[in-house]
Amino acid sequence: NKVGVPREITAGESRVGLTPESALQLVKLGHDCLVETGAGLSAGFSDEAYRAAGVRVVATREAVYAEGDVIAKVRPPQADEVALLSAGKTLISFFYPAQNKDLLEQARETGASVIAMDMVPRISRAQKMDALSSMANVAGYRAVIEAGSNFGRFFTGQVTAAGKVPPAKVLVIGAGVAGLAAIGTATSLGAITYAFDVRPEVAEQIESMGAEFVYLDFAHSQGGGQQDGAATGGYAAPSSPEFREKQLAKFRELAPEIDIVITTALIPGRDAPKLWLEDMVAAMKPGSVVVDLAAERGGNCDLTVPDQKIVSPNGVTIVGYTDFPSRMAAQASTLYATNVRHMLSDLTPGKDGVLVHNMDDDVIRGATVTKAGEITFPPPPPKIQ
Ligand code: NAD
Repeated sequence: NKVGVPREITAGESRVGLTPESALQLVKLGHDCLVETGAGLSAGFSDEAYRAAGVRVVATREAVYAEGDVIAKVRPPQADEVALLSAGKTLISFFYPAQNKDLLEQARETGASVIAMDMVPRISRAQKMDALSSMANVAGYRAVIEAGSNFGRFFTGQVTAAGKVPPAKVLVIGAGVAGLAAIGTATSLGAITYAFDVRPEVAEQIESMGAEFVYLDFAHSQGGGQQDGAATGGYAAPSSPEFREKQLAKFRELAPEIDIVITTALIPGRDAPKLWLEDMVAAMKPGSVVVDLAAERGGNCDLTVPDQKIVSPNGVTIVGYTDFPSRMAAQASTLYATNVRHMLSDLTPGKDGVLVHNMDDDVIRGATVTKAGEITFPPPPPKIQ
């Protein structure tokens, strides 16, 4: 089999689906790799580096699609990329089938198989292919770096001859994969870090990373009343009005003290909940920073403008970029290409370059959204957890 990797065509996308290192691993699985010229450049991988890893560099996207049996890329394909697919080919990329129904139908018509990296089931066995988590990890780290570059002060407290500097106070709202990465980064830079989540079970993880879990004022001990927003499968559900009021009251109390807010709160299938409201921004000190990782889904902050950085009337910077992983393209590509390589490893059980698209395998089944002219999304629930 040949694995072909095109240059990403989405404006501003710097990641790539294959690195020289992952190519070496794919060769061990019996695959040949080809890459479009310049595909890795914005992520720090030159054509030369690919060639040195045994990858053939071809001149055009059309050549990649014509020769590749498997096409591996990052972003969901655009319509003219789908048009280059045909029966017998397999596309591996992010796809978001629930949000991209037309694209899914278009892909079905080509007869190609599509494996959506965003549909990999979140079970232990599939962690090595969990690209949502690997990209959320990069986004959480980058959110803190972005906050730091917009914050005019140190994170860590210092006592210097020129005066005493207090440590920065960081609040992370939502402690899933991205939030925990942000907590780890902020504490390692020396900030005093607080974190809040509607799922009380993350309190231990937050505390083990050196941050303080923000409990709400319920009569129960250990955040018993904080169960409110916990749903099944480790995801959150919308909060009740009472819970939300308590949460907002707590944030209002914290706002004048906090220098940096990083919001990551998401609820599956819904717009991002609004949690950092205009009056909270107004209560923050000038020079404070809000980084809203939920911007793509409408934002957790009232004032967030997706894809932009704005400054509020009282001097608070609000960062609403939606491409944090792409802003760390080398790291994100390395992790993503490893996720794809593991997917291909499971698809090539004989290590002989022969693709076996086994629909009895929960992970492969879960991620497959079209196969042989049929739409196979949504998948049945996985048999094992
Ligand atoms: P996510 O991106 O869907 O949400 C981010 C966080 O926002 C979640 O922690 C959620 O509880 C929180 N949130 C929602 N509403 C909120 C509110 N009103 N206030 C504050 N916080 C709010 O989550 P994710 O990062 O994709 O992870 C979800 C869960 O899945 C986590 O428990 C994670 O550990 C788990 N997970 C498991 C696996 C695996 O088993 N292979 C892989 C990845 C993630």
